[in-house]
Amino acid sequence: MTKPAVAAEACVSLGAQGPTLESFPNRIIDLGGIHVARALPIREHRMIGPWCFLDRAGPLTFAPDKGIDVGSHPHMGLQTVTWLFEGEMLHHDSLGNEVVVRPGDVNVMTSGSGIAHAEETPRINSGHLNAAQLWVALPNASRNDAASFASIAHVPVTETSSGLVTTFAGSLAGVTSAAPHFSELVGAELTIHASHDLEIDIEPTFEHAVLVVDGDCSIDGQAIEAQRLYYLGSQRRSVCFGSRSGGRILFIGGPPFSETILMWWNFVARTPEEIAQARADWQAGIRFGAVPAYGGPRLDAPELARIARPNPMS
Ligand code: MN
Repeated sequence: MTKPAVAAEACVSLGAQGPTLESFPNRIIDLGGIHVARALPIREHRMIGPWCFLDRAGPLTFAPDKGIDVGSHPHMGLQTVTWLFEGEMLHHDSLGNEVVVRPGDVNVMTSGSGIAHAEETPRINSGHLNAAQLWVALPNASRNDAASFASIAHVPVTETSSGLVTTFAGSLAGVTSAAPHFSELVGAELTIHASHDLEIDIEPTFEHAVLVVDGDCSIDGQAIEAQRLYYLGSQRRSVCFGSRSGGRILFIGGPPFSETILMWWNFVARTPEEIAQARADWQAGIRFGAVPAYGGPRLDAPELARIARPNPMS
């Protein structure tokens, strides 16, 4: 049998051996008038710890009946992590979950070997959306487990005189998110008050990266810009975020992921054959299940030989 021609991207951790501060521009993607800033994967297809995908959507404003609507689509080999800065999103999946996520809550969907979901702006909404969509690659030992879904209301917030640390994944600033994960990692939103420096202790064995959400921010005194991913490397025991007029950032990290993954469309795999099989199963309507609570259509998989972008809201 010939190997399937799959236009997948091989993604590896950059795995810096020490502290650094490098920045990589986000790719701005126009999804029918909605602009998404894709921070991961980028050029060299790097992962940050187990984090393998990061999209920033918004801030967006829309008419109440014209929000986001992403039809049902499959995932495998990953967790989707939905974190909102503003607005709301309704999640439906093939396990029967139907949950609205709002700022302060995190949705974590563990695909295992297969799940399907749809995401849309709920009928009653604020007309705004500002969101991060992240994926965590599942390690080989867990990637074929059964699918599951967790919605964690009110993840822990640590408040200091300099700002807020809101930890949605892993542990930071003395608190731990209840979200289930299968590799060590951290994910947090940091708010830095105007004219303050927020210093946090971080895990030296992790590599870390930062994205500006809004306002202004500096890292150890160096100003950082929006729409760029800043890679901090590893072996830092602390990092100091400053702001002149107030700012928010997204902070992610984890130990350099030791496995090379293949990403194609909404799948994380290890071989082209696995991707070809998953695509065939989705097109045949098997394995991933249906999302009956979502009223709209299923999304068709692209052709295998095409570079296939993940679905807009992941
Ligand atoms: Mn998705």
